[in-house]
Amino acid sequence: MRRTVLLGLLLTSGGLLIGAAACGPDGPPPVPAIEQVRGDLYVIQGGDPTDRATFSGGNVAVYVMDQGVAVVDSKLPGYGQQIIDQIRTVTDKPILAMFHTHTHNDHAGSTPEFPDTIEVITHENIKASLTREECLPVTNCQTFKGENARYLPQTTFSEKASVWFGDDRIDLYHFGPAHTNGDTLVVFPAERAMHSGDMFSLKRPPFIDTNNGGSGLEYPETLAKTAAGIQGVDTIIPGHTPGFFTWAELEEYAEFHRQFVAMARAAHAAGKTAEEAAEEYVIPDEFEGYNRSDPMRIPTNIQTIYDELEQ
Ligand SMILES: [Zn+2]
Repeated sequence: MRRTVLLGLLLTSGGLLIGAAACGPDGPPPVPAIEQVRGDLYVIQGGDPTDRATFSGGNVAVYVMDQGVAVVDSKLPGYGQQIIDQIRTVTDKPILAMFHTHTHNDHAGSTPEFPDTIEVITHENIKASLTREECLPVTNCQTFKGENARYLPQTTFSEKASVWFGDDRIDLYHFGPAHTNGDTLVVFPAERAMHSGDMFSLKRPPFIDTNNGGSGLEYPETLAKTAAGIQGVDTIIPGHTPGFFTWAELEEYAEFHRQFVAMARAAHAAGKTAEEAAEEYVIPDEFEGYNRSDPMRIPTNIQTIYDELEQ
């Protein structure tokens, strides 16, 4: 972490905030009002990913610090001004920094609509994904081409980084591949809270983006390392769920994946196709409130694990 860059920015970025939402004639659907999570931490929810009328992208976290505002994720393209407008209902402080939980366009899509004085800070694999020459569907690198290249991450980290000090400290963690190979947990120690991105977005089998280094086989290990490696968090802002998760729910999600991979390994050893294994799979009763997601998700995830086992 190049702290000097950040400290330099703290001194210079007090200017006016100008957004440039790239929306159609009627604009994108409105985002819900910003709500307080705890203390100086707020969230702008993202709506239901399966409902295009309300879906604006992932949940955005807003942290109001002494000298300015840090934002985690920026929703789909076209939401920059709405996010800024919501932030302005709780503080006039300058927006200093943008963190991304991962590369996807529903989490990093509006970043170039923020003032170009922001410092963008991400995992090194997110930067690698955003700077790709050829953009895959959800990779989102098209958002950062041409003039928008100035919004590519200026500062990157690999395993852990801390930004700012005292009550304003924000910790960034990466424990390995899961949803993508850049999944970042953003922790606000003073608020005992964390944004988990899409590593833990909903209580269902996740999208595993193998084009961006995601791993079905390593997903449970990465979750277990997260559960063991971070202390002092009670409240989790998930990638998409309305509302919050507890730390116990994160541990439960790690166990859900451990059992899922064990099921897939056993089915693979027994010579079953991914479709056969998916048809037989029943979400165990202990995982209350879990659903199967879309019909293709389970066979696709089992196939992803098979492919990794056969590599
Ligand atoms: Zn995602």
